[in-house]
Amino acid sequence: MREIRGGVFQGRFHNLLISKNNTFWAPQISRLTFQVVINTVAPDTPVFVLHLYDRALLNAAALRAVGYTKDTPEPPGGEIRRDHAGNPTGLLIARPNAMILYATLAKGPKLAREDQLNSTRLFLSELNRFGVTSVIDAGGGFQNYPDDYAVINALHRRGELSVRLAYNLFTQKPKEELKDFQRWTKMTRPGEGDDFYRVNGAGEMLVFSAADFEDILQPRPEMPPVMEEELKGVIRHLAENRWPFRLHATYDETITHALNVYEAVNREAPFDGLHWFFDHCETISDRNIERVKALGGGIAVQNRMAFQGEYFVERYGRQQAERTPPIGRMLALGVPVGAGTDATRVSSYNPFLSLYWLVTGNTVGGLNLYPEQNRLDRMEALRLYTVGSSWFSTEEGKKGSIALGQLADLAVLSADYFSISDEDIKRLESVLTLVGGKVVYAAREFSKLAPPPLPASPDWSPVKYYGGYQQPWDARAGAPDRAARSAIEPNARQKAHRWVRGEAGLWSLGCDCFAF
Ligand SMILES: [Zn+2]
Repeated sequence: MREIRGGVFQGRFHNLLISKNNTFWAPQISRLTFQVVINTVAPDTPVFVLHLYDRALLNAAALRAVGYTKDTPEPPGGEIRRDHAGNPTGLLIARPNAMILYATLAKGPKLAREDQLNSTRLFLSELNRFGVTSVIDAGGGFQNYPDDYAVINALHRRGELSVRLAYNLFTQKPKEELKDFQRWTKMTRPGEGDDFYRVNGAGEMLVFSAADFEDILQPRPEMPPVMEEELKGVIRHLAENRWPFRLHATYDETITHALNVYEAVNREAPFDGLHWFFDHCETISDRNIERVKALGGGIAVQNRMAFQGEYFVERYGRQQAERTPPIGRMLALGVPVGAGTDATRVSSYNPFLSLYWLVTGNTVGGLNLYPEQNRLDRMEALRLYTVGSSWFSTEEGKKGSIALGQLADLAVLSADYFSISDEDIKRLESVLTLVGGKVVYAAREFSKLAPPPLPASPDWSPVKYYGGYQQPWDARAGAPDRAARSAIEPNARQKAHRWVRGEAGLWSLGCDCFAF
């Protein structure tokens, strides 16, 4: 127990969370034991452990913080597991959707404003460590526009963004989605902002009745009959106002309904070059890829199957899993394809895990999902991540390649992506990241160029002790700074790399889905 307590403090806790076969708990401990562990090592600090997007485990302090008691009624989108006396055990089950997970996160204690500003900068810096220079934010549950954008707005005003951000507006009001979009199309417009921070359009939630929850542990959800009618009102409004839009869609059946709507609206209010797209599309059929192409749409894919592939095979079989999603087919038909992660709630934000998945077809648990024709060569995978993704923020020609006239954003990687072994792709980091020609991250031989270190706050911040993702705790004693980041011993690196599998759980706590 003492070792575990030390491990939690030093950020090694995740070693316990995900076992070899990619199940929630390490095989040697039961959920109850695990709960005793988190209650003992963190009696006063709320701990929220997320497993994929299907369940969460809270310690007693977290239950107190969110106010779940014997008298709390069952929420509409989930189940609070209880003991025989009716008291919450700490286990939350997301069924039939993820509402309980993000509703619970939203009840957590808030950081002071200065700490919010600081932790957002630290997170962006962490993305820079992986060579990320731009992201497209797909919005997310309980991320309200414009109120919850105050912190990122302030950083933008101060010139403190180190990652470019194009953000989509995500409705938060079931049955009142159209009103949200009517209000927002009056308030702002696509492209408003600048190269660092700009409005990208609508989605990925357009109407709640169209959201298919990607919990592979549950059967595929049927879309309610009202979906097409509700979606039609919103799509017509967006098309008439020339707003690019995106829609979360996991299953082909959902995509069929959405395309029925899009085709009908397109006849009355032509999309005519508008950049619209689906997110995810794990089971999209060839027929529907053709329909996307005919309407001028794109498909944004993310490595969710790298985390859920085993569950998918269990439910639908190996053959079905071979094209989840069928990226090779999308490219063959000439559909714009962008690649991303779906971090931070659904998967890790490490882009190299996603590139590894695109190239090898392997889950993080080691299961090979795809035959040769549905894997990409390294150049093609990188192209989807860079040039390919620029279409999705309508910024083609402006970013994605190192060329005259493009934004001066680039990353120098820790090893040669094109010649290292497949397994080593997961271990890549940046050693020098430039955004707008300015060094935003530097390590190893470039460490002299690094910006001044950002102290972590508040004082108890795990970042202060843990550093970032895949950081060996013993190389990071003391406050995080660029020098410490560059001083990773080969042995420590080996040790850190064995931890990859466990990371997504712990690092899925913070904000929300951003697809790239
Ligand atoms: Zn989504």
